Amino acid sequence: MFDGVFRMLSVNCALGSSAADRTSGSAVGESATSAAVGPSDACFTWTRTLSQGATGPDVTQLQIRISGWVEQGETLAVDGVYGPATAAAVRRFKAGYGLQNTTGTAGPETFNIIYSLQKQDCTPTHFSYPEFTGGCGETGFSGGAVPASVVRQNLLLVMWQLEALRHKLGDRPIVITSGFRSVSCNSRVGGATNSLHTFGKAADLGLASRPSQCQLWRTARTCGFREILGPGYPGHDDHVHVANRDTQFWRAPNC
Ligand SMILES: [Zn+2]
Repeated sequence: MFDGVFRMLSVNCALGSSAADRTSGSAVGESATSAAVGPSDACFTWTRTLSQGATGPDVTQLQIRISGWVEQGETLAVDGVYGPATAAAVRRFKAGYGLQNTTGTAGPETFNIIYSLQKQDCTPTHFSYPEFTGGCGETGFSGGAVPASVVRQNLLLVMWQLEALRHKLGDRPIVITSGFRSVSCNSRVGGATNSLHTFGKAADLGLASRPSQCQLWRTARTCGFREILGPGYPGHDDHVHVANRDTQFWRAPNC
């Protein structure tokens, strides 16, 4: 079980130096076609430079990491196909972390930023699985609408989108007040039937987050979330709810 104190500690672990700090000064060009790319990483290591037309699991891994760098209203397909949308997201990701070279190619500079952001279990620096468990005092990710392994996959994507959101908001901590909920927990807390929380596709961002509620709501629109509920929407005056779903549903009458 993770109590509020743990959550606060786990989300306020801002690092002393940003990824941009650590990667600035790199002289390696993104246009390099060499296969020698980046350091070995415990989570995933890219072994080739990727650009439009590339396909494969390494493209899928890249897409997960940059899924929060879309344009407003867009959601990036995580399909292993490096198309124009992936290239555009790579450009925004690189610009967001201060790279001079902002082509749509993902090479050593891009991967080095990702290596500096990802942890051994592939989650991003500022978010971790324990922050998303513990609904109703439970641990783990079982009892949901999908198997625990799928919940974890879904949450990984949400975390990378939140990492982008956090960075866009000036690296200010975001507090997760509710992540995954088992089906029984969800009904106990009065969650909607088929709530995306039971799939691991949703997160509630609390008022203790340093960005304002409306800042969170507005910026989340550029992070690929299709469901964003905030101030003025029934039941959402004390948090912003973000989730991944098929169709767009954004509501925050007071923002
Ligand atoms: Zn929610």
